Amino acid sequence: MASYHSGPMIPIPRAGPGRDFAPLELRRTDRVFVLTGAGISAESGVATFRDANGLWEKHRVEDVATPEGFARDPRLVWRFYSERRAQIAKVRPNPAHVALAKLEEALGDGLFLCTQNVDPLHELGGSRRVHHMHGELCKTRCERCARPAFDDARQYVDSEEPVRCELCGGRLRPAVVWFGEIPLGMDSIFAAVQDCDLFLTVGSSGAVHPAAALVSHLRNHPSPRTGRYARTIYLGLERPENAHSFDECRLGKAGELLPSLFALR
Ligand code: NAD
Repeated sequence: MASYHSGPMIPIPRAGPGRDFAPLELRRTDRVFVLTGAGISAESGVATFRDANGLWEKHRVEDVATPEGFARDPRLVWRFYSERRAQIAKVRPNPAHVALAKLEEALGDGLFLCTQNVDPLHELGGSRRVHHMHGELCKTRCERCARPAFDDARQYVDSEEPVRCELCGGRLRPAVVWFGEIPLGMDSIFAAVQDCDLFLTVGSSGAVHPAAALVSHLRNHPSPRTGRYARTIYLGLERPENAHSFDECRLGKAGELLPSLFALR
């Protein structure tokens, strides 16, 4: 049959309402990589980045989520993150977070849970090993010294001066990864991606890199351990920008679909 394609074929993922798909069969020895995005916390009442239409909670992303924005106006940035800290102090995990905690109970080290979210809802839902690639909202770190990021839920709303490190006098900043910065622990993320049998993304628009590119690696590289290609599944409200890299897009709310997503053998 004649083909009119001039370039490589781009596979079209199966996409449709999540309830139309069969549960994902898993053996307890399978290795599963889960990448979560802002969508998994939406049903808990945390606004997604997507909702914001270029403005994040009424601020320009460039002003509050870049190193340049912090250099220009650290107090504005601290006010923004203090508001976020106040907001997440009130929110509770939803059934999607709990479902992933149960998956960890079943698979142990076989699950690598990687989140782009800076909220603590996975931990509050019962997950014990969570890789926060974009840092954590309730941690603070020093811009200057090597002091590790420390737990800090304080809100710096009224401070006139930029907040300073008690050890070295450097400026303290939220321990989150801003646009233009390198996400945390990329080596361990890549190692886990390469080794997985199932790659699942939940509630991420596929627009923020490098997280969005992880799945495309699996398109071209079979697992060195099994010699097979990992199955790649997206679960979220709508097709993400990187939909073409997934075998399936299961559409719907994370809190409704995740609790019955896995069938463990
Ligand atoms: P995004 O906001 O770009 O995309 C969210 C995706 O979730 C959308 O595709 C949307 O359709 C989907 N979604 C919305 N409600 C859903 C639901 N109930 N169930 C399933 N899917 C749903 O998010 P992103 O791709 O994670 O990128 C945003 C960036 O902003 C990340 O870097 C993240 O660090 C940061 N962020 C974090 C939080 C948080 O910590 N909760 C919140 C906002 C933004």
